[in-house]
Amino acid sequence: TTPSARLRVCVLGATGSIGTNTLDVLARHPERYEVVALTAHGRVPELLAQCLQWKPRFAVMSSADAAAALQRELRGAGLRTEVLHGPDALCHVSAHADVDVVMAAIVGAAGLEPCLAAARAGKRLLLANKEAIVVGGALFMDAVREGGATLLPIDSEHSAIFQCLPEDRGTWAQRIDHIVLTASGGPFRDRDPATLAAVTPDEACAHPNWVMGRKISVDSATMMNKALEVIEARWLFNLKPEQIKVVVHPQSIIHSMVVCRDRSVLAQLGTPDMRVPIAYGLSFPERIESGASLLDFTQLPGLTFRPADTARYPGLQLAWDTLRGPEGSTAVLNAANEVAVAAFLAGTIRFDQIHSVNARCLDAVSPSSDACRSVAGLLALDADVRRHAESVVGTLNA
Ligand code: NAD
Ligand code: MG
Repeated sequence: TTPSARLRVCVLGATGSIGTNTLDVLARHPERYEVVALTAHGRVPELLAQCLQWKPRFAVMSSADAAAALQRELRGAGLRTEVLHGPDALCHVSAHADVDVVMAAIVGAAGLEPCLAAARAGKRLLLANKEAIVVGGALFMDAVREGGATLLPIDSEHSAIFQCLPEDRGTWAQRIDHIVLTASGGPFRDRDPATLAAVTPDEACAHPNWVMGRKISVDSATMMNKALEVIEARWLFNLKPEQIKVVVHPQSIIHSMVVCRDRSVLAQLGTPDMRVPIAYGLSFPERIESGASLLDFTQLPGLTFRPADTARYPGLQLAWDTLRGPEGSTAVLNAANEVAVAAFLAGTIRFDQIHSVNARCLDAVSPSSDACRSVAGLLALDADVRRHAESVVGTLNA
């Protein structure tokens, strides 16, 4: 292949866990992919190092100061990378005519607008940023359809479901009875629920099977991550809430399952390594080397399953509650949870109070039916809930 035949990739959230895993896979296939844009929130030295390696045309940081600092360093190193900053710049690079593939690996609702921009511009959109689809809902899926984008899931569970049924999603409904999302149970799966009030941020971030960013690590410990994934699955695969089930599978070897009409069960297995779903998203419908190690069946400790218990994981049920509630309830849940997790990581509230913040915000804020019609409406709802959640955090902390 000639260099011009390479796919041109934009990595949003390049310095994070998914971002660096993506660059690891891309580095294995220089003949197939070229990096055109890299973005990061604030850490200049990390994005600088990535820019020196990849020489992208664009780099984006959140603040003007960080962008200026990065631009100086890059000029000093003789690179012509154009450094931009702010939310509009994220949309600019993800919709850019010279970009074919957008890896959406920003954490939180901050990634919604660049995802929508990529969707409307008809890109191949690799979605790790689950909060964006949880907040965007129908609007997100409309943008994908109207823009003619190819939306491929990167979340390992959703990639697993998609790998079991890679063809036209429009015909799935006739074939699927339900799907089963597997959950590791997080670091506290065997801990006495009565002691959960005392856990520290570092304990919550010590995930047994995966190394991930701190927000998703806390979400895995509360199982809010699985709640967000239930909502994500509803939109990605156009399923009814009751067609989505969750089972705890501590080994994280089966990444999820599809139960067909005829009771045949399809599962996708592998070592827990995010480079597998990332490589699949990048190369679909082909398959490329990911760097993951082989699953050695003779060394497996055994695959076990148990129900997710509601005393340990009270937040999980909120997924089905919000999906059945007024439209926009899932956006309320996401915003409350982002604030609650940040407050827990900052040491302001206890681990068990994350659920109190989420439940109280869902009780207090009822989204108007208009809120979900536009991005502006969704972002205003998101901001409203954040304000409310901050005040709940304040009362808990008092
Ligand atoms: P992370 O915290 O390691 O990285 C987040 C990235 O986003 C960083 O590059 C950061 O600079 C950037 N960022 C953060 N806030 C931003 C903002 N306000 N504006 C612009 N950029 C911002 O997170 P992660 O673990 O890589 O997760 C990224 C997303 O992928 C999350 O939505 C997460 O739920 C999802 N995901 C992660 C994993 C995993 O294994 N880490 C698995 C499945 C899904
Ligand atoms: Mg997942």
